[in-house]
Amino acid sequence: MNKLVCIDAGHGGYDSGAVGNGIKEKDVVLKVVKRIGRLLGDRGISIMYTRISDIYVGLKERCQIANSLNADLFVSVHINSAASEQASGTETLCYNKNRLAEFIQKHLLSKLKLKDRGIKERKDLAVLNGTLMTAVLCELAFLSNKAEAEFIKTEKFIDLAAEAIVCGICEYFGMEETHKNKNTEDLEMKKNIDVIINGEKGCTGGYFADGKNLFTADFIRQLGFRVTYNPETKEVSFKGKVCADSVK
Ligand SMILES: [Zn+2]
Repeated sequence: MNKLVCIDAGHGGYDSGAVGNGIKEKDVVLKVVKRIGRLLGDRGISIMYTRISDIYVGLKERCQIANSLNADLFVSVHINSAASEQASGTETLCYNKNRLAEFIQKHLLSKLKLKDRGIKERKDLAVLNGTLMTAVLCELAFLSNKAEAEFIKTEKFIDLAAEAIVCGICEYFGMEETHKNKNTEDLEMKKNIDVIINGEKGCTGGYFADGKNLFTADFIRQLGFRVTYNPETKEVSFKGKVCADSVK
């Protein structure tokens, strides 16, 4: 019954994604994804990231990560951009229309309150056609649009986007949205744990409970980090540098 969601922050490292109006897509989506991870962990849903820092991960590798862990869902987060400053709104992309796309798009619209660009089938996107599970790619808003760019820069935007995606995932799993921190915090199920990655504090959920036998840790190790676990502070630390080979 334990669910595993692979959350994918688009771009990273030398690939900034869309850039404009003082925003880099890769930075915003990483913030949103980390927030999603924390919220899902609070609800007892295990999570797996394709990246948790500013590194480039290949599109094929993103799919492999999700496939090899047999994730139940794959959610990729992006920010849109267009040549026309007028372009605006939220859209959710999927290989075949699915309920996850429907729920996430619905919650994104109700929280972000931007224009509904709809749910679009895209057969050509690597992370949608290379993943074996139900997968979606959310284009939250347009950073090329001045008004939306101002919104994207706010903490409110990060919060609302993450909450919306989490609501969509919970609805897909048939979980009540009221499963909030309050009830789950005391349960043994609580899986969130602080992580320190090259000195930067973050948070993840799922597999760090005992510091051993960790899918996520294995993945991080593959990226060239040394993973250590401190049972007293319950902190997992990653040290080291990403090997160029392993992120190809
Ligand atoms: Zn993108």
